[in-house]
Amino acid sequence: MKLGVCYYPEQNPEELWHLDAQAMRELGLKIVRIGDFAWFKMEPKNEQFEWEWLDRVVNILQNEGIQVVLSTPTSAPPSWMINQHPEILPVAENGISKNFGSRRHYCPNNPAFQDFTKRIVTQLALRYGKHPAIIGWQVDNEFGAQNSVRCYCDRCVKKFRDWLIDRYKTLEDLNNAWGTIFWSQLYSNWGEIYPPNLTVATPNPSQVLDYHRFASDSFIKFQKLQVDILRENIENQMITHNPEFDQFELDTHKLGVDLDFLSWNSSPTGQAEKLTKRFYAPWETVPEFSYDVGDPYITGFIHAWVRGAKKEPFWIMQQQVGQTNWGEINTGIRAGTVRLWTWHAVASGADTVIYFRWRASRFAQENYQSGLLKHDGSPDIGFKEIANLLPESPVLQQLKEEPLNSPVAILTRFDDLWAIKIQPHRKDYEYLRTIFGYYRALTELGINVDLVPANTDLSDYRLVIAPLMYIVDQDITDHLEAYVARGGTLLFGTRSGSKNESNIMVNEPLPGLLRALVGGTISEWQALPAGVCFSLRSEIPGLTGEAGFWTEAIEPDNNEIVNVLVRYLGGPHSGKAALTEHDFGAGNVFYLGFYPNHDQLKALLKFFVQSVRCEGILDLPDGVIVIPRGNHRIAFNFTRNEKTFVMDDQVVTLPPRDIKFFLRDWS
Ligand code: ZN
Repeated sequence: MKLGVCYYPEQNPEELWHLDAQAMRELGLKIVRIGDFAWFKMEPKNEQFEWEWLDRVVNILQNEGIQVVLSTPTSAPPSWMINQHPEILPVAENGISKNFGSRRHYCPNNPAFQDFTKRIVTQLALRYGKHPAIIGWQVDNEFGAQNSVRCYCDRCVKKFRDWLIDRYKTLEDLNNAWGTIFWSQLYSNWGEIYPPNLTVATPNPSQVLDYHRFASDSFIKFQKLQVDILRENIENQMITHNPEFDQFELDTHKLGVDLDFLSWNSSPTGQAEKLTKRFYAPWETVPEFSYDVGDPYITGFIHAWVRGAKKEPFWIMQQQVGQTNWGEINTGIRAGTVRLWTWHAVASGADTVIYFRWRASRFAQENYQSGLLKHDGSPDIGFKEIANLLPESPVLQQLKEEPLNSPVAILTRFDDLWAIKIQPHRKDYEYLRTIFGYYRALTELGINVDLVPANTDLSDYRLVIAPLMYIVDQDITDHLEAYVARGGTLLFGTRSGSKNESNIMVNEPLPGLLRALVGGTISEWQALPAGVCFSLRSEIPGLTGEAGFWTEAIEPDNNEIVNVLVRYLGGPHSGKAALTEHDFGAGNVFYLGFYPNHDQLKALLKFFVQSVRCEGILDLPDGVIVIPRGNHRIAFNFTRNEKTFVMDDQVVTLPPRDIKFFLRDWS
């Protein structure tokens, strides 16, 4: 278990480098990440490289026994490059080119930029690929940040056509896949196809989904361009990347394939500020948590998303240590917070935590972002927190080595995420909000959850949940049928199986290809305005109230034995099934025909985890999380108040912003 820090030597006078490295060692930090955004320092003029300063930094750190993660600098192309090749700049959805002056100002498909990238990465790899102090590489920084995934430049137009030719082979297949006969959109030449921006009315949703896929693939290819050069030239060094988890516009499942592991940048108060509005429905009560700690369910959700992508440990490449700079309020933090975040990350599967950043910057865009040192160089709150945390690092190490087993998997897919965003049909029907609701309810029950790509091996899970498996093809159907046939339990939520991979409605009764699994048909569905609800009669303990927001009536198929667990008592579906259970092979499949509120979801998931015999089900107060690791459990209180709950028939009391370990066989 190692702790480290992000460092920007190029932003500080050289006489500080020795002092900084020495102070890092004395604090107990073992890893430093450098190099992101330092392209100008590495190549101040075209093809004129300057490495001596970086050599000195690496040597200084090495002499203090600190290992180095070197980032490729491609997230910040220098001004001379943009001046020579302005076509590198990305074009916004409104058709206007973006400007130099911040970061992420490049199109990943631009050939000149790709050449500059190949050259700088090759130079870096040749010089540092076998350096004993360099333990690994971060490619670029925060793909996807600042809404930078989709570019609409001329080059992207051409590359999009190439991507479509590769996918569809013939225009006839593309026209059929997109349904272009509608509104006379038929294409008779590949050159007639453009990105789906600046249309007068709504663009074709199949085209929009393909543009999301193409743009995401463009960054995955751009990353691979760098990874391939590094792999050719490095020895015993890892490669990772830290994508942005804000808009989820980049397929991080695919992005992780070429990497040794994924990393992410965790800023709990900033992330909660941004994501609370998207993860909680407007009518929901946001659970209590401290304004200066962030929402632990949101932080935990992204931990689980990153861990699930490769089902492997991950790194926190930038852990917030004080104020963020880019939020709406940018709250300060209080004593205990950095320790809490570090433990939460490690308990959730993080292998290494790198704090952001060593010194606060006095200048430019992030001059309010806290570092471990203040602007005047004196220790800030995060520094003191780490000093207090380090005596606990042997325990952190032991915790990290314990298995992180989850009995429940929630299936996630970017195709579904994007397709629902493109056509939500009912305002506020959001993919991430739906998935998050299930994750939060299970976390409140003390159950570890993996958020995994849908094609993951599911054999170890007692319960698999597909809250919104909207787009379904034969491969995923076969995969799920095999899991259930072997004895698995599978729960589908509303709108499952509605569309095919081209984002068009299926031409068979819903839920389309999933009908055999469900043993029934969705005979009718309703998107409901606020205040319109249908009564329910439920056999699930605690599942009470009415169905609102979105409802579907399930009609059991003839010759199938289907158990109805919840039925509509009023409204147009009156008397029809709202939750069904169907035996399939050695397992069973549930279909939930309404969009549950949080209390209903919690009752429902409690019923499911009990029926698949999950152990250690708890009833945790808001803001308290318990994570089982092997035989051990760690409890967190993310609130400003003391909290109590019952675990193993004992009353547990947790002080504010504190943790408790429940360790077995601890020595
Ligand atoms: Zn472009």
